Amino acid sequence: MNHRNPDPSAPDRRRLLAGGGALLLALTAGPLLATRSGAPAPRDDGDPSGVPRAPASLSPASGWMPGVVRRPLERNFVVGERDAQRGLVLHVQEGEGSLYERFNSPGIKASSHFWVSQSGETEQYVSVLDRAWAQVDGNGSWASVETSGFATRALTEAQVDAVSRIYAWGCGTHGWPPSISDSPGQPGLGTHAMGGAPWGAHACPGTLRAGQRSDILRRVREGLPLAG
Ligand SMILES: [Zn+2]
Repeated sequence: MNHRNPDPSAPDRRRLLAGGGALLLALTAGPLLATRSGAPAPRDDGDPSGVPRAPASLSPASGWMPGVVRRPLERNFVVGERDAQRGLVLHVQEGEGSLYERFNSPGIKASSHFWVSQSGETEQYVSVLDRAWAQVDGNGSWASVETSGFATRALTEAQVDAVSRIYAWGCGTHGWPPSISDSPGQPGLGTHAMGGAPWGAHACPGTLRAGQRSDILRRVREGLPLAG
Protein backbone atom coordinates (compact mmCIF):
# COMPACT_ATOMS: atom_id res chain seq x y z
CA MET A 1 0.00 0.00 0.00
CA ASN A 2 2.87 2.32 0.65
CA HIS A 3 4.81 1.20 -2.36
CA ARG A 4 5.75 3.73 -4.96
CA ASN A 5 8.19 3.57 -7.78
CA PRO A 6 9.45 7.03 -8.71
CA ASP A 7 11.38 7.42 -11.92
CA PRO A 8 15.01 7.52 -10.76
CA SER A 9 16.19 8.99 -14.05
CA ALA A 10 14.22 12.23 -13.96
CA PRO A 11 15.45 14.71 -11.37
CA ASP A 12 13.66 18.01 -11.71
CA ARG A 13 16.47 20.22 -12.90
CA ARG A 14 14.17 23.08 -13.78
CA ARG A 15 13.58 23.78 -10.11
CA LEU A 16 17.27 23.52 -9.39
CA LEU A 17 18.11 25.93 -12.15
CA ALA A 18 15.56 28.33 -10.76
CA GLY A 19 17.44 28.14 -7.47
CA GLY A 20 20.69 29.35 -8.98
CA GLY A 21 23.50 28.01 -11.11
CA ALA A 22 26.00 27.85 -8.26
CA LEU A 23 23.68 25.68 -6.24
CA LEU A 24 23.06 23.38 -9.18
CA LEU A 25 26.79 23.05 -9.64
CA ALA A 26 27.24 22.15 -6.00
CA LEU A 27 24.47 19.60 -6.13
CA THR A 28 25.59 17.83 -9.26
CA ALA A 29 29.07 17.52 -7.75
CA GLY A 30 27.71 15.11 -5.14
CA PRO A 31 28.99 11.55 -4.86
CA LEU A 32 27.77 8.78 -7.11
CA LEU A 33 29.17 5.86 -5.25
CA ALA A 34 28.46 2.19 -4.97
CA THR A 35 26.66 1.05 -1.85
CA ARG A 36 27.08 -1.74 0.59
CA SER A 37 24.81 -3.50 2.99
CA GLY A 38 25.40 -4.11 6.64
CA ALA A 39 23.70 -5.00 9.88
CA PRO A 40 22.93 -1.66 11.46
CA ALA A 41 20.98 -1.15 14.62
CA PRO A 42 19.30 2.25 14.55
CA ARG A 43 17.37 3.27 17.59
CA ASP A 44 14.87 5.53 15.96
CA ASP A 45 11.17 5.43 16.28
CA GLY A 46 8.40 4.59 13.93
CA ASP A 47 5.35 6.61 13.28
CA PRO A 48 2.28 5.22 15.01
CA SER A 49 -0.22 7.45 13.28
CA GLY A 50 -0.71 10.55 11.28
CA VAL A 51 -3.44 12.79 9.97
CA PRO A 52 -3.54 12.78 6.17
CA ARG A 53 -2.61 16.14 4.75
CA ALA A 54 -2.46 17.58 1.28
CA PRO A 55 0.93 16.96 -0.38
CA ALA A 56 3.13 19.84 -1.41
CA SER A 57 2.40 21.21 -4.87
CA LEU A 58 5.68 19.99 -6.32
CA SER A 59 6.37 17.40 -8.96
CA PRO A 60 7.16 13.98 -7.49
CA ALA A 61 10.69 14.10 -8.89
CA SER A 62 11.53 17.15 -6.76
CA GLY A 63 11.33 14.98 -3.66
CA TRP A 64 14.41 13.04 -4.82
CA MET A 65 17.84 14.65 -4.63
CA PRO A 66 19.99 14.44 -7.78
CA GLY A 67 23.54 13.15 -7.51
CA VAL A 68 23.01 10.66 -4.68
CA VAL A 69 22.30 6.93 -4.66
CA ARG A 70 18.55 6.49 -4.93
CA ARG A 71 17.21 3.36 -3.19
CA PRO A 72 13.45 3.76 -2.79
CA LEU A 73 11.98 1.76 0.07
CA GLU A 74 9.04 -0.51 -0.62
CA ARG A 75 7.59 -0.11 2.89
CA ASN A 76 8.05 1.61 6.26
CA PHE A 77 7.03 5.06 5.09
CA VAL A 78 3.83 6.80 4.01
CA VAL A 79 3.25 8.37 0.61
CA GLY A 80 2.48 12.05 1.07
CA GLU A 81 1.30 13.19 4.50
CA ARG A 82 3.94 15.92 4.70
CA ASP A 83 2.20 18.91 6.24
CA ALA A 84 5.28 21.18 6.20
CA GLN A 85 8.89 21.39 5.04
CA ARG A 86 10.54 22.78 8.15
CA GLY A 87 13.96 21.39 7.36
CA LEU A 88 16.17 18.43 8.17
CA VAL A 89 16.65 16.45 11.37
CA LEU A 90 20.14 15.12 12.07
CA HIS A 91 20.37 11.57 13.46
CA VAL A 92 23.21 9.25 14.44
CA GLN A 93 23.04 5.63 13.36
CA GLU A 94 24.96 4.10 16.29
CA GLY A 95 26.37 1.65 13.79
CA GLU A 96 27.89 1.39 10.34
CA GLY A 97 26.72 0.34 6.90
CA SER A 98 23.81 1.14 4.64
CA LEU A 99 20.43 1.16 6.35
CA TYR A 100 18.55 0.20 3.21
CA GLU A 101 18.10 -3.48 4.02
CA ARG A 102 16.94 -2.74 7.55
CA PHE A 103 14.56 0.03 6.58
CA ASN A 104 13.14 -2.09 3.76
CA SER A 105 12.45 -5.05 6.06
CA PRO A 106 8.80 -5.83 6.85
CA GLY A 107 7.67 -4.73 10.28
CA ILE A 108 10.61 -2.47 11.10
CA LYS A 109 8.42 0.65 11.28
CA ALA A 110 11.47 2.89 10.97
CA SER A 111 13.09 4.72 8.09
CA SER A 112 14.82 7.94 7.16
CA HIS A 113 14.89 10.02 4.02
CA PHE A 114 18.69 9.97 3.76
CA TRP A 115 21.70 8.05 5.05
CA VAL A 116 25.31 9.25 4.95
CA SER A 117 28.34 6.98 5.42
CA GLN A 118 31.60 7.95 7.11
CA SER A 119 33.09 8.51 3.66
CA GLY A 120 30.22 10.71 2.53
CA GLU A 121 28.27 8.17 0.47
CA THR A 122 24.69 9.38 0.43
CA GLU A 123 21.67 7.15 -0.09
CA GLN A 124 18.09 8.41 -0.34
CA TYR A 125 15.38 5.99 0.70
CA VAL A 126 12.21 8.10 0.77
CA SER A 127 11.11 11.15 -1.22
CA VAL A 128 11.05 14.20 1.01
CA LEU A 129 7.49 14.71 -0.24
CA ASP A 130 6.66 11.50 1.64
CA ARG A 131 6.70 10.75 5.35
CA ALA A 132 9.62 8.70 6.62
CA TRP A 133 9.47 7.22 10.10
CA ALA A 134 12.42 8.70 11.96
CA GLN A 135 11.13 10.97 14.72
CA VAL A 136 7.51 10.05 15.53
CA ASP A 137 5.51 13.29 15.88
CA GLY A 138 8.15 15.12 13.85
CA ASN A 139 7.72 12.96 10.78
CA GLY A 140 5.08 15.10 9.10
CA SER A 141 7.02 18.34 9.11
CA TRP A 142 10.66 17.27 8.90
CA ALA A 143 12.98 15.38 6.60
CA SER A 144 15.58 13.14 8.22
CA VAL A 145 19.18 12.05 7.69
CA GLU A 146 20.89 9.17 9.45
CA THR A 147 24.67 9.51 9.78
CA SER A 148 26.80 6.42 10.27
CA GLY A 149 29.03 6.14 13.30
CA PHE A 150 28.40 6.86 16.95
CA ALA A 151 27.34 9.81 19.07
CA THR A 152 30.67 9.76 20.87
CA ARG A 153 32.52 10.41 17.61
CA ALA A 154 32.26 13.53 15.47
CA LEU A 155 30.93 13.51 11.94
CA THR A 156 33.79 13.09 9.48
CA GLU A 157 34.65 15.93 7.13
CA ALA A 158 33.09 13.89 4.33
CA GLN A 159 29.88 13.55 6.34
CA VAL A 160 29.76 17.26 7.06
CA ASP A 161 30.16 17.90 3.35
CA ALA A 162 27.52 15.35 2.41
CA VAL A 163 24.94 16.67 4.88
CA SER A 164 25.64 20.21 3.69
CA ARG A 165 24.91 19.10 0.11
CA ILE A 166 21.62 17.57 1.22
CA TYR A 167 20.73 20.71 3.11
CA ALA A 168 21.69 22.99 0.23
CA TRP A 169 19.42 20.98 -2.02
CA GLY A 170 16.59 21.29 0.52
CA CYS A 171 17.17 25.04 0.70
CA GLY A 172 16.89 25.45 -3.03
CA THR A 173 14.10 22.96 -3.66
CA HIS A 174 11.98 22.98 -0.51
CA GLY A 175 12.75 26.27 1.21
CA TRP A 176 14.62 24.90 4.24
CA PRO A 177 16.19 27.97 5.89
CA PRO A 178 20.00 27.89 6.33
CA SER A 179 19.82 28.21 10.11
CA ILE A 180 19.99 26.01 13.20
CA SER A 181 16.77 24.84 14.79
CA ASP A 182 16.53 23.80 18.41
CA SER A 183 12.77 23.28 18.64
CA PRO A 184 10.19 21.41 16.54
CA GLY A 185 8.33 24.59 15.60
CA GLN A 186 11.41 26.43 14.38
CA PRO A 187 12.44 25.64 10.77
CA GLY A 188 16.07 24.83 10.04
CA LEU A 189 18.64 22.12 10.68
CA GLY A 190 17.51 20.37 13.84
CA THR A 191 18.27 17.32 15.96
CA HIS A 192 16.25 14.29 16.97
CA ALA A 193 16.73 15.22 20.64
CA MET A 194 15.05 18.60 20.24
CA GLY A 195 11.65 16.90 19.88
CA GLY A 196 11.75 15.44 23.38
CA ALA A 197 9.19 12.81 24.33
CA PRO A 198 6.85 13.43 21.36
CA TRP A 199 9.78 12.53 19.10
CA GLY A 200 10.68 9.40 21.07
CA ALA A 201 12.85 10.92 23.84
CA HIS A 202 16.22 10.28 22.25
CA ALA A 203 19.55 12.03 22.90
CA CYS A 204 20.30 11.47 19.18
CA PRO A 205 22.61 12.60 17.59
CA GLY A 206 24.45 13.68 20.76
CA THR A 207 25.95 17.04 21.59
CA LEU A 208 29.12 16.45 19.57
CA ARG A 209 27.34 15.99 16.25
CA ALA A 210 24.64 18.53 17.11
CA GLY A 211 27.43 21.07 17.56
CA GLN A 212 28.67 20.42 14.03
CA ARG A 213 25.51 21.89 12.53
CA SER A 214 27.20 25.29 12.44
CA ASP A 215 29.91 23.81 10.20
CA ILE A 216 27.29 22.21 7.98
CA LEU A 217 25.35 25.45 7.62
CA ARG A 218 28.47 27.49 6.97
CA ARG A 219 29.15 25.28 3.97
CA VAL A 220 25.53 25.56 2.89
CA ARG A 221 25.67 29.36 2.99
CA GLU A 222 28.95 29.42 1.11
CA GLY A 223 27.30 27.49 -1.71
CA LEU A 224 24.15 29.58 -1.93
CA PRO A 225 24.11 32.30 -4.60
CA LEU A 226 22.80 35.18 -2.51
CA ALA A 227 22.51 34.02 1.09
CA GLY A 228 24.42 35.98 3.69
ZN1 LIG B 1 17.65 9.75 15.82
